[in-house]
Amino acid sequence: AKKQGRNRIEFFQDEMKDCFEKKMRLEAGLHTALENNEFELFYQPQLNVSLGYMASAEALIRWNHPEWGMVSPAEFIPLAESSGRISSIGAWVIDEGFKMAKELKQHYPKLQRIGLNVSSVQLREQNFVEQVKVALAEYNIEPSLIEFEITESVVIDRLEETIEKLSELKKLGIALALDDFGTGYSSLNYLRRLPIDRVKLDRSFIQEMDEDPKLATMVHHIIEMAHGIGLEVVAEGVETEKQMQMLNALQVDKVQGYFYSRPIDQKGLYAFIDAKYGE
Ligand code: C2E
Ligand code: CA
Ligand code: CA
Ligand code: CA
Repeated sequence: AKKQGRNRIEFFQDEMKDCFEKKMRLEAGLHTALENNEFELFYQPQLNVSLGYMASAEALIRWNHPEWGMVSPAEFIPLAESSGRISSIGAWVIDEGFKMAKELKQHYPKLQRIGLNVSSVQLREQNFVEQVKVALAEYNIEPSLIEFEITESVVIDRLEETIEKLSELKKLGIALALDDFGTGYSSLNYLRRLPIDRVKLDRSFIQEMDEDPKLATMVHHIIEMAHGIGLEVVAEGVETEKQMQMLNALQVDKVQGYFYSRPIDQKGLYAFIDAKYGE
C-alpha cells in the first residue's frame, strides 16, 4: 500500500492490520495539530420544528490533516482522551465556540445557544469551571448562550462528582444537555438528580422509529417522561421527512440531522441562516 503514497484512502484502508501503527501516527499528528491550526469547528443547525426556525447549533470538531485529509472525531477524540491531549483541544473548542457564539448572536439575534461537546476527561479537570469563567469574561457573553453536551455514559461513572461539577456550571448560567440519551446504562433515577436542561435522544432511536412501532412508542414515552420532569428533548440524527413529522407530532422540542443540514463550516452556517432567514 505504501507505494500509492500516503493519501487518505491508503491510510484508512487495512483498518485491522495497521491498527497499532495507525494509532501511533494519529497520536503523533495530534501532538502538533493545535499549533499547526489543523482543527476547525463545524456547526449543525438545531431547528425548532413547530416554529420552523433555527434555534441553536451544535459545534462539532474537525481535524483537517495536511496529508490524511479529514480525520473523524470519533477516531481522534478517544485517542486525545487517553493521551491527555484532550485538555488543550477542549480548551481550544471552548475558546473558538465562545467566540463564534458571540459573533453569531450578533448576526442572528434569534439564536438561543451554541452547543459544545465536553469530554468527561475535560469535565473532571480541577480548573475546568475556572477556565469556563475566564472565557465567559473574556468574550463577555451571556452564559445562557452556551450549552455543554455531556455524554450519558460518563455521568453514571461518577455520579456524585458529576452532579457537583454540573451544578457549578449551572450556577454560572451555562445550559446543560445530556448527550446520547437512551444508550449506555440509562437509569431513570440519575436523570432526576442531574441539573440538566435537556436530553438529546440518541440517533439509534430516531433512525428506526419510522419502521419499528415499538421504538416509536418508546420515543413517545421518553418525550412525555422528559417533559413531565421539566426537561426539553432534542432528537438527533433526523434523516427523513417522515421521522421529522413523527417527532413533531410527539412534540419534540428540537430536531437536528441530515434532513435539515449536515454539519457545515462557519461560512456555510452563515449562508444557511441568510438563505432561510435573511431579509
Ligand atoms: P455526537 O456528539 O453524538 O455528535 C453527533 C454525530 O452525529 C456527529 O458526528 C454528527 O455529524 C452526526 N450526525 C448528525 N446528524 C446526523 C444524521 O442525520 N445521520 C447520521 N448518521 N449522523 C448524523 P461527528 O461530527 O463525526 O462527531 C462524532 C462524535 O465525536 C460526537 O458525537 C462527539 O461525541 C465527538 N465530538 C465531536 N466534536 C467534539 C468536540 O468538540 N469535543 C469532544 N469532546 N467531542 C467531540
Ligand atoms: Ca453531541
Ligand atoms: Ca449525540
Ligand atoms: Ca456520541
